[in-house]
Amino acid sequence: MAATPQGTLPSGKMVIENIGLLLSGALEHPILDADTIVVIDGRIDSIGYRADLNTDNAQILVDTQGTTVAPGLIDSHVHPVMGDWTPRQNQFNWIDSYLNGGVTTMISAGEVHTPGRPKDIVGLKAMAITAQRTFSNLRPGGVKLHAGAPVVEKEMVEQDFKEMAAAGVKLLGEVGLGGVKQADEAKQMVAWARKYGIQSTIHTGGPSIPGSGLIDADVVLEADADVIGHINGGHTALPLDQIRCLCESCSRSVELVHNGNELAALFAMRTTMELKQQERIILGTDSPAGSGVQPLGILRMIALLSSLGEVPPETVFCFATGNTARQRDLDCGLIEPGRAADFVIMDRAQHTAGSTILNSIKNGDLPGISMVIIDGAIRCRRSRNTPPADRLATLKGE
Ligand SMILES: [Zn+2]
Repeated sequence: MAATPQGTLPSGKMVIENIGLLLSGALEHPILDADTIVVIDGRIDSIGYRADLNTDNAQILVDTQGTTVAPGLIDSHVHPVMGDWTPRQNQFNWIDSYLNGGVTTMISAGEVHTPGRPKDIVGLKAMAITAQRTFSNLRPGGVKLHAGAPVVEKEMVEQDFKEMAAAGVKLLGEVGLGGVKQADEAKQMVAWARKYGIQSTIHTGGPSIPGSGLIDADVVLEADADVIGHINGGHTALPLDQIRCLCESCSRSVELVHNGNELAALFAMRTTMELKQQERIILGTDSPAGSGVQPLGILRMIALLSSLGEVPPETVFCFATGNTARQRDLDCGLIEPGRAADFVIMDRAQHTAGSTILNSIKNGDLPGISMVIIDGAIRCRRSRNTPPADRLATLKGE
């Protein structure tokens, strides 16, 4: 099962047992009353207490040793290019490093770092389709990367969106990173994308790197993209009153990123929670970026929002899993039957002051990862990047 080629679903049965804490990814019940998960052919089959489930004849039996299982983390905002290489800071195997940070799914917000990126319409469409294809065919480290996110330019017409959708493009890169920066133009492009089933994200805040521009709250609201991309800036945030206005004046996803302004992230989270709309909050890294590659970026966001933001860690985990899956219509991110069997197995880090894993995160520490599973296949054992976990999951027969 673990030896299946990348991109193909494993067949067979996996049982994950002796779970001490099961985080569901669902805001309405973030902790599940269960100690065992049964996986069949890469999908969650059943969840419950071992005595009540059919756990016979498993090809793979994972004993979590009383530790914590959560849905695999989703990074809602990455900028991939090709394979497992990023030219932004010229690193190889960055995606595999994020796998070691518990990330099992990534969403491209545009392959904008591609050297010599074409800006003519034929070229940008071809590049989007190529990225969609290459990352469908290849899963670096096993990570599911949804890519092929074109950055829209002014000369585009409705037919371009129709063609791209027919060719398999399902995402727009951040609106505002290309030539389209005016509200009315952005609104038209987003509407065409939506008409053909392409999900959109807009760049929010000041320019990221030389060559990009400011997108303020008025433009974001008029464009009406599905995701308010990095509402906390990428890296330069809008004034807090504009961030409040974005939270209050629309119902689109509120994306908080690691490569943004931390104060603005905490403010956007609190404002959205005061509105009782926490289901809108999703997390990303917006990486690779000027500040590099951050394999633990999503875990660090969870610790930041939980500790300084004073939100229970089990709730913040939902922002990085089930919320993103629901807002972006993904088949992962929640521990429920029929979903993709994507899990991260963790425990409190060695020598943390926190008495439990949740306590340690509330105190601002990161958990230690001992196993990551994607589509029912084990993709990494003890993480090479997190602090070492107190207790490690084991495989039967070891
Ligand atoms: Zn951006």
